[in-house]
Amino acid sequence: MTLRTIDSLGPLAGKRVVVRCDLNVPLRDGVITDDGRVRASVPTLAALVAQGARVIVVSHLGRPDGAPDPKYSLAPVAARLGELLDAPVAFATDTVGADAAAKVAALADGEVLVLENLRFNAGETSKNEAERTAFAGELAEFADAVVSDGFGVVHRKQASVYELEQLRPSAAGLLIAAELDVLDRLTENPERPYTVVLGGSKVSDKLGVIAHLLPRVDALLIGGGMLFTFLAAQGHKVGSSLLEADQIETVKGYLAEAAERGVDIVLPTDVVVAASFSADAEHVVAPADAIEQTPFGASGLGLDIGPDTASEFANRIRGSKTVFWNGPMGVFELEPFAAGTRVVAAALTQVDGLSVVGGGDSAAAVRQLGFDDAQFGHISTGGGASLEFLEGKKLPGLEVLGWQ
Ligand code: ADP
Ligand code: MG
Repeated sequence: MTLRTIDSLGPLAGKRVVVRCDLNVPLRDGVITDDGRVRASVPTLAALVAQGARVIVVSHLGRPDGAPDPKYSLAPVAARLGELLDAPVAFATDTVGADAAAKVAALADGEVLVLENLRFNAGETSKNEAERTAFAGELAEFADAVVSDGFGVVHRKQASVYELEQLRPSAAGLLIAAELDVLDRLTENPERPYTVVLGGSKVSDKLGVIAHLLPRVDALLIGGGMLFTFLAAQGHKVGSSLLEADQIETVKGYLAEAAERGVDIVLPTDVVVAASFSADAEHVVAPADAIEQTPFGASGLGLDIGPDTASEFANRIRGSKTVFWNGPMGVFELEPFAAGTRVVAAALTQVDGLSVVGGGDSAAAVRQLGFDDAQFGHISTGGGASLEFLEGKKLPGLEVLGWQ
């Protein structure tokens, strides 16, 4: 590991340091519903403030269309950051425009400024390298040095993650360093048994990880939206549940490979089937091979793993020395379908070894269900980034910080 650390930037008192954080928090009606990523950004920012740096925080929020959209303003996040830092935090209503320039110029040593959502500027996520470089160049005007700490975006080649870091002396922040420490422990000689639990709704994204995990893990537990593609691969009908029909053949391949390698792919034996996608929908528990034999027939929707599956998963998790979990087991946002996720989360808190939760919604789920961060070995701020790391991919946002 050759990641450049903040120390490598030399003394930062009086220097303008642009810090790329991942402050992409869930918002409902302008209120932050889970501030985990803001809290995770505090150690680096506090350390820079303590050194007397002039701290300029940049981040994206959601997926605005490359133009200002008040729905995705970082203003509430800047306010929350001020509370957590227990210091005034200024906010610029643009990214590289007149307000930002004026507020950067007005920053005193040890002060913090948050710029508006980077993705209000099309250059941030442009596929065109010249456009990204141009936007990065404008951001670089504000920076004597750059600290990259947005772990959730290091798998993206974006202006503030990849190009900006190459235009100024740059280093990784404390969050990225902490995340990589844990991910290293998952990839280099994890203590066994090593169990990975996968769920959530980004099915095709996550199926790709399985190929890379099979040679490394002892067991793979499959819940959430992706379980139905597995059940379909075994020839079962899944009603109107989430299904990626074009992935069925791939999944068959994984099942065959797992059998060959002696890795257990553990699939649900029962699921919670609902009449519709709503909190007050009628629902029943059905065997995994009889999803269409409920009163809802082929229109039934599998929205959670069933209780037998949840307790089997919990036993497997508690018996492991290393557990990585990404993706809720069901639609935890709706209370009737939260039980599977709750049981799995509780089991992770009982692991005698390393337990890691990765993924934006998974992290939000454990907090929403009343668990405390400290009950887990680590809660990663990055879903896609941690999965790609575990896949062994080269992550552009880490490579520019010296990682190999
Ligand atoms: P993460 O952000 O942790 O990586 P994802 O974004 O892949 O997870 O998926 C999270 C979403 O998956 C949640 O909003 C949850 O409601 C949804 N989900 C879980 N199980 C199901 C299911 N059976 N059907 C539909 N959606 C599901
Ligand atoms: Mg998600």
